[in-house]
This record gives sequence, structure tokens and C-alpha cells, in this order.
Amino acid sequence: MSKPAQIDTCQRFLFSQSDVRGEIVRLNKSYLDTVSNHAYPEGVRHLLGEFLAASVLLGSAIKYEGRLVLQVRGDGELSLIMSECTSEGAIRGIARFDSPPKSSEFTTLTGDGVLVITVDSRKHEPYQGIVSLEGGSLSAALQTYFDQSEQLPSWFIFAVDGEQACGFMLQQLPGSSQQDDDDRDDAWQHLVMLAQTLTTSELLQLDNEALLHRLYHQEQVELFEPRTFHYQCSCSRERTARALISIGKEEVDSIVAEHGAVNIACEFCGTEYQFDAAEVSMLMQERGNVLH
Ligand SMILES: [Zn+2]
Repeated sequence: MSKPAQIDTCQRFLFSQSDVRGEIVRLNKSYLDTVSNHAYPEGVRHLLGEFLAASVLLGSAIKYEGRLVLQVRGDGELSLIMSECTSEGAIRGIARFDSPPKSSEFTTLTGDGVLVITVDSRKHEPYQGIVSLEGGSLSAALQTYFDQSEQLPSWFIFAVDGEQACGFMLQQLPGSSQQDDDDRDDAWQHLVMLAQTLTTSELLQLDNEALLHRLYHQEQVELFEPRTFHYQCSCSRERTARALISIGKEEVDSIVAEHGAVNIACEFCGTEYQFDAAEVSMLMQERGNVLH
């Protein structure tokens, strides 16, 4: 099997004779860029890959213009795991922990808690969906989310290795070509049953055409143009300055008194932003003006 050609892409497909669509995401460089600045243990690297692939799949399933954030609030070995995908195709993600987790098991890493899906839309009110982490995997939590919140039966599988983070999704669409509920249900069950035969190594190694042929050579499948994704951090000097202001004058002043400047590194990409004493005093003055 040759390496897939479609990397850092998400590609939609549609079953012409039933109301079901799908997406295949394949991240390579964007995944490696996300994890390269961090000394993540293997299990954390793997789960972050799943989160990145999932935020791209969700971004294609939920219409928005802005930023989609997928995040766990739990009590497991990770104090935070989150990924983001913008409507322009920029992705980033991070995992945080006190002591490096040894586990690669979903429930041990995330603990009891919830999966939070936030959409920061430029045009509409922010939206937040929350679903329990029961089910023992990210794909199970996402399936529950779409069943409960969107009433759109969905099916997910993820596969991550040292090079790639991949995901595959099937989703039922509101009825148009099939009106009869039993027919719709039968078609959905049939397509999911075939998808369940897909192995993680096939998902990593087959290109999209070969993968769809392998699963659905007896169906009529329409494959759309792939959309591309890239790693990009949204941090900036201006945003960091705003974070600095929120720390509080006394604390910032004491750092400046001791070190002559304040250095803040972006937790996502590691970029360092330095503010010298004059800049800090100007920022604090602006803050004073805002407060009064
Ligand atoms: Zn950054």
C-alpha cells in the first residue's frame, strides 16, 4: 500500500441513493507542527491527534464562520486537552498535565467529565454544546453528542500514528431522497455496518478513493474536492498584552522590578513576547483609563 496523497485535507463524500454523507480527514504536517514544540508522552500525543482530526470533522459538520473549540473538562491525568479549527482551515491544539501521564487509555487520561464543543462565530452568538464522556472514547462521546443535540445519527473512527492523525465520519442527513423512516434506517445501518469493518491501519494507509472503494464499491459514492488545513497559532503581541493587563498591576510591577521586563511565552506555539518596563507602564496606564 502506498502513502495517501491527500494529506492535511478533509474530503467530503455523499451516497447518491441514501441521505448519508461522510468526511475523511488526514493530517500530517499540521499534526506534527502541533505536537513538535511539546514533550508529550505517546498516549497524550495520540489523543491530541484524535482531537485535531475531530475538530476538523466537527468543523465540516457544524456550519460556522469563526473558530470551533473541542475541549474536555474532566478529572483525569490531563488537566486540559483541547483543539481548535477555524473556518479558514487553521488548526492548533494543546494538552496540559501536572505529571506526565503514562496511560494511553481515554478514560484514564480524561477522567469523569464532559466534552465541550464551543463555536465562536463572527456572525452569530457563541454556541456551546456539552456531552458526557461516558462510552470510553472520543468517537463514542461525539456520537452521543450528535444523537442528543443535533438528532443526526453519526459514526466516527480515528487512527493516529507517529506521522498522521486521521478520522472518518458518517452522518445521516435530513431526509430528501428517502422519505420512508424504515428505508432510511436500513440504509444507515447498512453503511455503518460496512464502515465498522474499516481498520485503523487501512484508514492510515489507504488513500481516500481506495478506502471508499474498499468499503462501498457496491454503492454510488460522490467524492468532493478536498479542503486543506494547516497549523497556525492565533497568538499575537496584542493579545498577549491584553493577557498581561489582566494579571494585575502589582504582580506585573514586581516582575519588572526583579527582571527589568516581562516575558510571556505562548503555551501553544512557544513564541516569546517581551514587554520592557516602559511598555508595561504604558499598558498599565491604558488599563487604568479603561477602568475609570
Ligand atoms: Zn502561539
